[in-house]
Amino acid sequence: MHESWSRTKRSQGFHHPSECPNGRWVETAHGRAPCPKCHADLIPWDNLPEPQKDINRHAFDDVLAEIRRRAAITERGGESG
Ligand SMILES: [Zn+2]
Repeated sequence: MHESWSRTKRSQGFHHPSECPNGRWVETAHGRAPCPKCHADLIPWDNLPEPQKDINRHAFDDVLAEIRRRAAITERGGESG
């Protein structure tokens, strides 16, 4: 899922060039260099169409709910029965 991939990348400090806090260039000992954290595939969250955001949120909620349900079942099954 592109969404989770984007999340991972962002958590690692990557961003879309249009969101670059460095203006797409960073100062190094050898002069200006392209920002190493810019990633063109990281579409800015605000650029996603609203329905798309909704779908992603719902999908994520569903996955969380399923994980919790399974965890609860496992815990119950672990007790005497
Ligand atoms: Zn950047």
